Amino acid sequence: MKRIDLRSDTITQPTQKMRDAMYTAVVGDDVYGDDPTVLELEAYAAKLVGKETAIFVPSGTFGNQLALFTHCKRGDEVILGDDCHIVVHEVGAASVIAGVQLRTLVTDKGALNPEEVNRRIRKEAEDIHYPSTGLICIENAHSNGCVISIENMNKIYEIAKEKEVPVHLDGARIFNAAIHLNVNVEEITKYCDSVNFCLSKGLCAPIGSILAGSEKFIEKAKKKRKLMGGGLRQAGFLAAAGLVALKEMRERLIEDHDHAKLLGEELSKIPSIKVYLDDIHINMIFFEMNETGYDSDKFVDEMGKRGIIINPIEDGLMRFVTNYWVSTEDVHYVVESIKEIISK
Ligand SMILES: *Cc1c(COP(=O)(O)O)cnc(C)c1O
Repeated sequence: MKRIDLRSDTITQPTQKMRDAMYTAVVGDDVYGDDPTVLELEAYAAKLVGKETAIFVPSGTFGNQLALFTHCKRGDEVILGDDCHIVVHEVGAASVIAGVQLRTLVTDKGALNPEEVNRRIRKEAEDIHYPSTGLICIENAHSNGCVISIENMNKIYEIAKEKEVPVHLDGARIFNAAIHLNVNVEEITKYCDSVNFCLSKGLCAPIGSILAGSEKFIEKAKKKRKLMGGGLRQAGFLAAAGLVALKEMRERLIEDHDHAKLLGEELSKIPSIKVYLDDIHINMIFFEMNETGYDSDKFVDEMGKRGIIINPIEDGLMRFVTNYWVSTEDVHYVVESIKEIISK
């Protein structure tokens, strides 16, 4: 039977090329700085996003939390969107690891309002009651599937520079954002001081993320990575797959975006389904299916019977995510399956 997994792009298997690269990888002890494949990946990744240097970390969550931990001191305040990954999906780690206070702002589809960011920045010295703003975090592409404009990032970065507050970019899907904006990724990352991005997800590496920034920042982060248990030994096996991800899997993300658009458009032709077509910026489709009269659990079940694996409804919305392992033919099969299910 077919198996089409639309739950997330985190389910992607490594490509054959990655498996081959991992098999033959030259490795060493990266805690000693001896792993040539990790060093090659870090140098390649840093150059790609226009930063001085970078370090390999086990996951995106690790990279974000390490960034907070490195930029801030305990009790600092971090300004960020109330719907961002760091707030919603990282188990409250910011309060446990960095010991910071999160100052959340309501966003417009993930975008922070620059004037509001400006108003919220605080300096300890201004008032005995105040914490210091230690960091501003932006997420692009946002995990809601939307891409934040360059203009918005630029405005926030200008304010941050003026007030001398660093900016961290959670760019888990930064290459998806670059494809949507049709720019070089550096055009996005120049508006941040540090950036975290995933080698897994759409790029298909099995494990790993990169945190990039200035030499001084990464030197500090390296020690904190060790503290957090992220000093890995023969990590070159993972870095080998990461290099294939960065060299060969970035440009093709456009196929996932095209598939998402196609799937969204085809679904929107079904009268009882409401697709948020304008919000299909990357590889994610959000839709409502209340009018089909179909209960979410039963729908998940019926799809499963046809080899299509999906997540149940969340906050009234269904989400499908395309990836390397979902073909054009699969998209058509999914649409036909849904038509068949809801017509019954
Ligand atoms: C997936 C994701 C992360 C975390 O990555 P993990 O590797 O799953 O820990 C962080 N931020 C955003 C926006 C993400 O989508």
